[in-house]
Amino acid sequence: MKLLLATNNAHKAQEIREILKDSFTEIVTMRDAGIELDVVEDGATFRENALKKAIETLDYAKDRFDAVLADDSGLCVDALNGAPGVFSARFSGEGHDDAANNSKLIRLLHDVPFEQRTARFCCCVALARREHAPIAVQGEVEGKILFDARGENGFGYDPYFYYEPFGKSFAELSSEEKNSVSHRKRALMLLREALNVEDRDHI
Ligand code: IMP
Repeated sequence: MKLLLATNNAHKAQEIREILKDSFTEIVTMRDAGIELDVVEDGATFRENALKKAIETLDYAKDRFDAVLADDSGLCVDALNGAPGVFSARFSGEGHDDAANNSKLIRLLHDVPFEQRTARFCCCVALARREHAPIAVQGEVEGKILFDARGENGFGYDPYFYYEPFGKSFAELSSEEKNSVSHRKRALMLLREALNVEDRDHI
């Protein structure tokens, strides 16, 4: 089964290949396939966005691919009623700027004490397939929002996301450490499990 990844992010592609290599004969990014398609992410949830991206991309590429995998992710902060959520990339307005998004987050939380700064990164991965119903699963990782940035690694909200089990912010982790516990890793493992269960049911 040939899988198209609805992403051009090399790190995501590598992680997906490692986890799903046994379920697909070939795993190809949009760039590798020479496909340029911009699906508008206007859903109210990560699930809606990931499914929309996967289904519309498969519709476009169904002559060449059996399945498309898409993901949508972001940060949900309890004290902000789940914001920035699906607006994580454009929290401070259109034009993706991590620094501006982080300043807005920290400004909104300035008088919230540490115990109440609970948050989670969420990632929904959706798999659209020609011959089967789509699958969508969500992975999450819990943390707290720091008052000050820590660490240089990662991207997005990582410098402010404190992960208690390691006693570090996500930006203080190596990519291997982060990938071992990340919301994306957890979602991909759930997808692998769902595909394995389907395989077993068909034997
Ligand atoms: P996307 O779904 O990969 O496009 O991510 C949407 C936005 O959520 C990113 O632009 C980041 O602001 C935020 N985000 C998602 N995953 C992470 C992460 O692992 N670390 C930090 N920020 C993230």
